[in-house]
Amino acid sequence: MHSLKRKVEPPLSFKEEVPLAPYSTWHIGGPARWLVEPTVEELPSLIKWAFHHDVPVYFLGRGSNILIDDAGLPGLVVVTRNSMTELRREKDLIVADSGVFLPHLSQFAAKAGFLGFEFLIGIPGTVGGALAMNSGLTVFRPREMASIVKDFDVVNVDGSFETLTLEEINVGYRRTDLLSGKRFVTRVRFRLESKGDPEEIRSSTLAHLAERKRKQPLDKPTAGSTFKSPPGSKGAGWYIEQAGLKGFQIGQAKVSPRHANWIENLGNATAADVRSLIEHIQNRVKVHSDIQLEPEVIFFD
Ligand SMILES: Cc1cc2nc3c(=O)[nH]c(=O)nc-3n(C[C@H](O)[C@H](O)[C@H](O)COP(=O)(O)OP(=O)(O)OC[C@H]3O[C@@H](n4cnc5c(N)ncnc54)[C@H](O)[C@@H]3O)c2cc1C
Repeated sequence: MHSLKRKVEPPLSFKEEVPLAPYSTWHIGGPARWLVEPTVEELPSLIKWAFHHDVPVYFLGRGSNILIDDAGLPGLVVVTRNSMTELRREKDLIVADSGVFLPHLSQFAAKAGFLGFEFLIGIPGTVGGALAMNSGLTVFRPREMASIVKDFDVVNVDGSFETLTLEEINVGYRRTDLLSGKRFVTRVRFRLESKGDPEEIRSSTLAHLAERKRKQPLDKPTAGSTFKSPPGSKGAGWYIEQAGLKGFQIGQAKVSPRHANWIENLGNATAADVRSLIEHIQNRVKVHSDIQLEPEVIFFD
């Protein structure tokens, strides 16, 4: 964990010592030293301020893929979900601010007759988080963010704006260079790949939702898939199940009885509970199947 012992005068818009559990879908995490919800225009000066004062910055969308440390975060947390939410159509493009909720983007695209956004309907993250993660589906109708993005705007640590394409961020399976936290996505442009019949898009969207309801513990606080799919045809959940860990629990963190690659917070789970469970799963799967599972969730500490 970083330490920030020096006295630093923050800008007035910063809130201090804000509990972060409500900002994560796992409902886990200690307080942020500072938290701010800026507009796109306000962002560069805040990033510059943090850089100048050597304050660590954490970008947070909907917190649906992160585990926030119990001790909290000793820097500035920039939250996009409430203040960066503009969504519009520009000819054959959809332009979305980084805090736009993915199911809203999916519905907006469907109304505009854009095909290929249906997979976003059940991913409870933001445009910025999903681009940074290259979020998507691997089993049911495989697709990922990179397949629909044209280009995007970022703010660099010196406060400068830049427009980038996917070629510049080293896109991989559930990763991009944006995860290094050095560039903040402010706005993304999506291209119209092909026009679709509204009825066809609607039924494809409903099929995605039905598939999720069938397989996933959507009524529990989780962060979706805990581990990336290992190479080969079997998913991480299959290996976890083979190791006899379905339903296994440490503290208040439990391997979901519904889907073994998901970890449920039973009510008062700590980040330490989840981390111990993650390590235990990795060790047991390694011994049982000689597979090294790699976390998909990002650790914020
Ligand atoms: C019920 C459930 C279902 C899920 N299903 C899927 C699924 O099908 N497929 C899938 O891939 N994922 C899935 N997830 C995981 C998660 O929803 C996605 O990874 C999502 O895209 C993360 O978005 P977020 O806004 O919540 O990002 P966060 O969790 O807030 O952040 C994730 C990472 O992105 C970075 N980041 C966030 N915003 C920005 C920004 N503006 N600029 C630069 N970096 C940024 C953060 O710093 C962090 O490193 C699921 C999660 C849940 C809880």
